[in-house]
Amino acid sequence: MTLPPLAPEVWWAHTSSAADRLSDLLDERERARGDRFLHRADRDRHLLARAMSRLALAERAGCDPREVAFELRCRSCDEKERAGAERDAEPHGKPHPTGPAGGWEISVSHSGEWVVLVVSEGVPVGVDVERVSASRDLGGLAAYTLSDTEREAWEGLSEAERTGAFFGYWARKEALLKATGLGLAGGLRRVTVSPPHTGARLLEWTGGGDPEAAWLTDLDRGEEYRAALAVLTDRPVEPVLHPPSAVRDLLRR
Ligand SMILES: [Zn+2]
Repeated sequence: MTLPPLAPEVWWAHTSSAADRLSDLLDERERARGDRFLHRADRDRHLLARAMSRLALAERAGCDPREVAFELRCRSCDEKERAGAERDAEPHGKPHPTGPAGGWEISVSHSGEWVVLVVSEGVPVGVDVERVSASRDLGGLAAYTLSDTEREAWEGLSEAERTGAFFGYWARKEALLKATGLGLAGGLRRVTVSPPHTGARLLEWTGGGDPEAAWLTDLDRGEEYRAALAVLTDRPVEPVLHPPSAVRDLLRR
């Protein structure tokens, strides 16, 4: 028997859709966090990410957005604890919906002018978006983010290809780390993915915490960005990409 494909839902919101009234949907802790950002752009990305997560989950669970609750779990801290070290004190890590939206999985990412949310039923997902930025010291960053295999392939690219490719690698790797719950603290070098100009695939995982199965794809957000979605399953996956009009409707609710 073949199982039907999984259909995680992908929502993209532009930062211009961050309306102040959305902050009514956030809980105390989320609002306090938003107030701590110095820059408007950071506040907007945070507000949209939190509000959009609540609205999408509330719609699926048939509850009020304010009734959606999250428990933060960090598998990297679980690892540290097993090794005899201390967890980070502040609550952090992957948000797991609890309460009426329990059983759903989400992942959120933002960069530049975009916020992306992925919602899936029962199967862990991870999403990442990165704005392509040539201003950073990419050679230095590559040394501690790309695995040896990836770095060799990356250094073989032309100067012109390297910048986009670097962020393509990063998005694929971070999406996988987020899906497993390890997050960036798990270390980007742990994961080896296929080169960005080829189909997205997980090639190798070292240092433990590897998923039993992982499905990976790039998401298109234009030339200025690189984005990827990871779904921890061996089933076929057909993501549902919500059009801008559906995102506008969601945020108006
Ligand atoms: Zn942690």
